[in-house]
Amino acid sequence: MGDKVLFLDRDGVINEHPRTPRTWEEFRFLPGVPEALAEATQDGWRIVVVTNKGIVGSRLLARKVSDEINRRMVEALAAQGARIEAVYACNHFPHGLCRCRKPKAGLLEDAKRDLRLDPEVCWMVGDNATDVAAGKKAGCRTVLLTSSKPRTKLMAKLKSLGVEPDHWAVGLSEAWRDDIAPSARK
Ligand SMILES: [Zn+2]
Repeated sequence: MGDKVLFLDRDGVINEHPRTPRTWEEFRFLPGVPEALAEATQDGWRIVVVTNKGIVGSRLLARKVSDEINRRMVEALAAQGARIEAVYACNHFPHGLCRCRKPKAGLLEDAKRDLRLDPEVCWMVGDNATDVAAGKKAGCRTVLLTSSKPRTKLMAKLKSLGVEPDHWAVGLSEAWRDDIAPSARK
């Protein structure tokens, strides 16, 4: 049997995103997220975070600090029973020509290869149209969250990328409960 794989964007999905946290002290989990991810861990899902950190590429946040925030996020979740297998970040300059920045699928493809993921069920959850595009390219079903951006803005970006999410949800915990968990229990 293959793996149940859950790819997650970070800001606006796992943590509040009025702006990208510059320190661990600014990092705030969104309600219900640790609990949902603990359930997913219990249910045998392999969870990987895939995050664009153009803020690092633009030299507005040190790579070391950004990595530290990710490390502490993983630790805090682990303490609540939620296992994040890895965090893949695109730390490149946003307008560069890297192969990993979403909407490209490089982060997901690298994770599949490095972690030997063999997805039987695969989901990508994000709050950006670029997450939907990356997820689709990697063969995942997608949920687009409306938690941090107006729906009209998301619709315009989806149109420009030529993609549509499989589901919409207000937050990760709802997406988990209504779409993702049921998909593997059938
Ligand atoms: Zn990149």
